[in-house]
Amino acid sequence: LTSDPASGALIGAVEGGGTKFFAATGRLVGDGPPVIGDRIRIDTHPDPSRTIAPIAEFLADRSPDVIGIASFGPLDLETGTIRSTPKIGWSGMPIRDALLTGFSDPPPTVIDTDVNAAALAEWTWGAAQGTEVALYMTVGTGIGGGAIVGGHPIHGLGHPEMGHVLVPRHPDDDAPTVCPIHPSCLEGMVSGPALAARAGRPAEDISDTDPLWDLATHYLAHGLADLTLVLSPEVIVLGGGVMQRPGLLGRVGDRLDDSLAGYVATPRVLLPHFGQEAGLVGAFALGVAAAD
Ligand SMILES: [Zn+2]
Repeated sequence: LTSDPASGALIGAVEGGGTKFFAATGRLVGDGPPVIGDRIRIDTHPDPSRTIAPIAEFLADRSPDVIGIASFGPLDLETGTIRSTPKIGWSGMPIRDALLTGFSDPPPTVIDTDVNAAALAEWTWGAAQGTEVALYMTVGTGIGGGAIVGGHPIHGLGHPEMGHVLVPRHPDDDAPTVCPIHPSCLEGMVSGPALAARAGRPAEDISDTDPLWDLATHYLAHGLADLTLVLSPEVIVLGGGVMQRPGLLGRVGDRLDDSLAGYVATPRVLLPHFGQEAGLVGAFALGVAAAD
């Protein structure tokens, strides 16, 4: 892949999550994913400078040729700023510029949402290779989605917020939503905290045979059916902690097939090739895009 502008370049990658940040450097070798060299992990502190400063120093010390930043959102993609968020201290944080403060002449840098980045990683090197339209969803503490169309993450008015698509309530479910905005959206009904609130214990402690998983399947299949009807993805990659529940992926795929009822083809539903690393590998994919 010698024609790739990122071939041989030192790529800096930052994954910013709600509880921790990772930064790493690496290089592309052949047409495979980046070979990661150094990396650090820093907790996401209520005072952003305590998280950002050591990562900015890590990047400046290594002087990468390009940088990709995959951050939790919502993001203003034009300015690289975190928009209004419940995370105390982080609203309005100019995360891109803050991470580049150690450079007098910053390298080309691309910032996008963590889920758009993970989608790009799976499309470039992982489970969604060779597709025209690929959808990546994470189902965990929050729910979010990114889509790759023709090799690029979708950007429009801003970035998509697929975790908040509205889903019909299951007739047996009268639990309150955990989303402060919507009465019945994916994140409000089936994120880890939504399941935990119904069960009265952490989602990972709910037994495999609990009927709550039927509810979870109902909501996830409805949300994915809507997204399939809009985007026509060939592949849906489902990451995040909730999706690690044994058997859930297959049940959601089957229910999605029922929901679509043969009117359109059912996408392949897969676990991420990069697992919990999809966000960091996604930041590398953004770094590759910065070299173009
Ligand atoms: Zn919502």
